[in-house]
Order: sequence, then structure tokens, then C-alpha cells
Amino acid sequence: MKHRVVVLGAGFGGLELTTLLSDALGDSIDVLLIDKADCFVFGFSKLDVMFWRQPPAAVQHPYSAIVKPGVRVLKAVVREIDPAGKRVVTDAGTFEADVLVVALGADYDQAATPGLVEEGTEFYSVPGAFALRDVLPRFERGPVIVGVTGKSFKCPPAPSEAALLVHDFLEERGRRESAEIALVMPFGTPIPPSPETSQAILAAFEERGIRFVKDNLVKALEPGRKVAVLSDGSELPYSLFLGIPVHRVPQVVVESGLASHPYDWVPVNKQTLETKYPGVYAVGDVNGVGTPKAGVFAEGAARVVAESIIAQLRGLTSPAVYLGQGACYVEFGHGQVGRVDVDFLSGPKPSGTFREPSEMLVREKSVFGSSRLERWFGGVPQRK
Ligand SMILES: Cc1cc2nc3c(=O)[nH]c(=O)nc-3n(C[C@H](O)[C@H](O)[C@H](O)COP(=O)(O)OP(=O)(O)OC[C@H]3O[C@@H](n4cnc5c(N)ncnc54)[C@H](O)[C@@H]3O)c2cc1C
Repeated sequence: MKHRVVVLGAGFGGLELTTLLSDALGDSIDVLLIDKADCFVFGFSKLDVMFWRQPPAAVQHPYSAIVKPGVRVLKAVVREIDPAGKRVVTDAGTFEADVLVVALGADYDQAATPGLVEEGTEFYSVPGAFALRDVLPRFERGPVIVGVTGKSFKCPPAPSEAALLVHDFLEERGRRESAEIALVMPFGTPIPPSPETSQAILAAFEERGIRFVKDNLVKALEPGRKVAVLSDGSELPYSLFLGIPVHRVPQVVVESGLASHPYDWVPVNKQTLETKYPGVYAVGDVNGVGTPKAGVFAEGAARVVAESIIAQLRGLTSPAVYLGQGACYVEFGHGQVGRVDVDFLSGPKPSGTFREPSEMLVREKSVFGSSRLERWFGGVPQRK
């Protein structure tokens, strides 16, 4: 019987892992990749759609395009995970595994921030970002807040990018003069591990008149009064609120016992990404390894798990150890892209190196996306 690997979640982590296993082992392995969605969307594409840089159809990549030796893709909702028995119940059947990989990402708990559901303008989910595409052109004047509502959130540069891109969006439409932009963040600087990157972002804010409200969270919105209540007790008025919702462990993962509560990301061995259950791994945003919640880190974790599975099947010891390193592109607006190379686990504390915005980085970011689509999907599939 073939070795059965069941991968839950076809995001950055699940797609990378599946591709590496298929490339190395072909149809000598049986990989089942399960996702409830019918297409993949890059995190950064949410900003592209919301700010009219890309149409929605161009950023939705259907899973039906995946044809790889040894891989089956199943559209189904994961309802139960039994990590001890390596068994998964979905709405399309029950599956048993020799190796189980949980790559279900982070969910959003919009209701944790009073007023956010009513206001309805978060941009971290696909439906939220796509809906804002129609809201933004109608905005004419008043204060705009880009507001973080919880301490642990995906892609730490994304709120700063949103503030810079909303500036461009309003400027291009002649409305920037009639709007004030503020960014509320729970950190003292935009990218704490990299003072140089933070300095460059703060300089861009200063140049564009964007207010950086540091060490604060948006705790509640009062849509009736159009006021955001911050964690220090102060209030900020808004006409348009662009929210980053509270992130949480998916409920099915909490119920499996892999995480002890909704805000406790799955504990794993920091070097191997294995959970306390042998042969059960947690990859990407869902784990609590301590790296930022970003695609590049999910991908790095998937690489370690893939190498470990391949080594086991070949009767070898895995040489791979998770290093917690990754490069994140940062949109500075005005068509500029910079990069921060971060290292979370190898030194005494997280560190980051800044690469100034350049034409080369604009191209590099584009290749970052297209090369993933080529490897994962065999091209750039788009929804019809
Ligand atoms: C605005 C924004 C900008 C970003 N920009 C960047 C960037 O520039 N660079 C970068 O590296 N990262 C970026 N990110 C972060 C990046 O998108 C995530 O960190 C990354 O996708 C995490 O990968 P993952 O595999 O852990 O989870 P995900 O990619 O979120 O995949 C999880 C998958 O699990 C599926 N799933 C969840 N629950 C179930 C269930 N019960 N049953 C079946 N399927 C389920 C989901 O449908 C999803 O496809 C950005 C994020 C946002 C929101």
C-alpha cells in the first residue's frame, strides 16, 4: 500500500508541501490535499483587488488546475481531526493517513471586536477585500483608519501597505486633500525586527501625512457615532474604517485538542514542525512556532516537513531543520516595492535587513507570485 499523506488546507503551506512531495516521489505516494475553497488567492492580491490594481478574476487560481503525480485534490470542509488516530472527517468522507499535515491557516473572529461586523469593512478575508473594492470609490471625505484589532496578525507589513495604498488611491482620484489617514498598530514601530524597514516606512508616512498611532489596538467600533475606541481608552473618529480582524485558531483544530484554546496556536517542535502526536505536523499560520504569519514562512515550514517525509520513506534521517527565515516584499505605494529579510529563530532575537525600494524588487515580487503559480498549478490559472 502506498504511504498516505493527508494535507489539510491548500494555502501557501499545503500547496508547497504537496508540490515538493509530488516532485520527489511521483505516484509512489498517495497525497490527498483537502480544502473547502475552490481557488487559491495570494494574501497580497487582496490589496491588489481592493485598490483596483487587479480585477477579482485575475487573482483567483482554481484548484481544479492542479494535475500532479500522486496527488488528489478534494474540495471539502474538514469537520473533525483525530490526531492520535491520524483520521479526518470531512463533509465528503472520512480519511486515514500515515502522515497528517494541518495547514488550515488562521481564521478571523470579527465578532471579537464590537461594531466590526456591523461596519463590515475588514480587508483580511477574500470576501472582505473584494467588497471594499466597491466601497472605496464611493468614499469622498473624512478620516480613514487602518486599524489592527489583535496582537497576532498575518503579514505584519500589510497594515502599513494598506495605509500607503489608500493614500495613492485617494490621491489619484483628487480626494487626498479631503481625507486624513491614520494607522493603528500594536507595535512601537511598523516592523519591530527591522529598525531600518520601520524607519523607511515611517519616513513614507511622514512624507504623505499619514499618522502612525503606535502601541495601540482598535478594541471596538461605534458605527452609530463613527468612532473607534482604542486600547488606551482614547477615541478616533472615522468615515472609513479598514480593519484587520482578530485572528484565531480554526475551531476544528481547537476541537481536535491540537490547540488548547482559540488564541493558542498549535504547539510544535520548533525544528521539525511536528506536533505532540508523532507523524502529525502543523505548518504555516496555524502553528505557534514564533515566526510571523506570512506565506514565505508557511512555505519554509512546508519544505522542512516535505524533506522529513521524503527522508523517512527513503530510510534516511531528515537533514532539514526549520530556520524561521523569510523575505517579505513591502509595497511603499507610488509603484515602489522594498523588501525585508527576516530571521526569527537562528539568533538571540529576531532580526531583519532592509532592501530599499527598486525596479528590481518590483520585478522580483511579480516573479515571486508567478513562479509559485507555475510550480503549484503548472501555469497561471484564472477563474473563468
Ligand atoms: C492583506 C494580506 C497581505 C499579505 N501579503 C503577504 C505577502 O506579501 N507575503 C507573504 O508571504 N504573506 C502575505 N500574507 C500572509 C499570507 O497570506 C498567509 O500568511 C499565508 O497564506 C499562510 O499560509 P497557510 O498555508 O498557513 O494558510 P492559508 O494560505 O490561509 O491556507 C489555509 C487554507 O485552509 C483552508 N481551510 C481552512 N479551514 C478549513 C476547513 N475547515 N476545511 C477545509 N479547508 C479549510 C482555507 O480555505 C485555506 O485555503 C498576506 C495576508 C494578507 C491578509
